[in-house]
Amino acid sequence: MSQIVKFQCPHCNAPVDVNPEDAIFNCVSCGQAYLEDGSKFDNHYILVNTLNQKQVHDIVKNFIKKKGFLRGIRGYKITKLTPTLLPFWSATADVYTHYVGYLRYTETKTRTVGSGKNRRTVTEHVTVYRPIDEEIREKRVEVLLGRRGSSIYGYESVKKLLRTEFQRAVPFNHDRLMSTEKEFDYLSSEIALNAANQLAKTAIFDDHRARAEKRCTKVFDCATQLTFTGTYFVHTPVWQVEYVFKDETYRIAILGSNGQIIKGEIPVTTRFRAIFLTLSMLIMGGAGVISYFFRYEVAVPIIAGIVTAVIGFFTLKNTFKPMSVYGG
Ligand SMILES: [Zn+2]
Repeated sequence: MSQIVKFQCPHCNAPVDVNPEDAIFNCVSCGQAYLEDGSKFDNHYILVNTLNQKQVHDIVKNFIKKKGFLRGIRGYKITKLTPTLLPFWSATADVYTHYVGYLRYTETKTRTVGSGKNRRTVTEHVTVYRPIDEEIREKRVEVLLGRRGSSIYGYESVKKLLRTEFQRAVPFNHDRLMSTEKEFDYLSSEIALNAANQLAKTAIFDDHRARAEKRCTKVFDCATQLTFTGTYFVHTPVWQVEYVFKDETYRIAILGSNGQIIKGEIPVTTRFRAIFLTLSMLIMGGAGVISYFFRYEVAVPIIAGIVTAVIGFFTLKNTFKPMSVYGG
């Protein structure tokens, strides 16, 4: 941990202790946000948490009941409940890409040649080179976590949810934070505004290039213009849950603003394995019997074989893995 730096808020003159690793910080007295160089930053937003501990317990209970169907999960215990305010950057931009290249494909053509008795149809395979000259125009929202080397469970999925959930964000307010999100672990950003914009830009350029390459066999030229229309810092409430079932720990992440399961783990129990295996055996046996009776219908044993292989694959997959993961 680096040592704390003293900062005096130009807005209200209050002294503020700043962790130099924080790329953004707020005055504890008036709430004004500042970047690490001390300049004012007005785009600090927060998604309001709407859950309490009791509701989180209920969400976990319903999740296990619904997703743990047939598994006989009883006597699990929530061992850890960590409400965390995760820092995300949300960069919005107008993006325009123009690319040229060509697409190569094979066309099959049939035509009739000759006449009279020599009339016949010939099939030809022709390689076609079609020039491609297209554009991509979009209003883009690029979200990234403001932490480096993060081990925060489910944060990748939060990024996707934030694209729409961000509309419900409100300007960050320090007083309200202290009253309604008091129990939350508050994480600040380690990634500065400029770095966030740069990362967003790279991600968007790469994505557009990849899209151009998907449309063409070869891309000759691909040029992207990007104009940022606003970069926001959004604190997002996430409840990190750990529960124990038969000595194993499983994780669930819940979005505090709407109660949605971001990502969750469910144990694959012995009972579930047994039910799954039995069902598979029955179906495979059934496929065998059907194949026997329809052995003169060529298609039936083939279809039965394919179905059996697919079921066998899923049985193996589900029987030996320790847990199922939802979301993410
Ligand atoms: Zn202040």
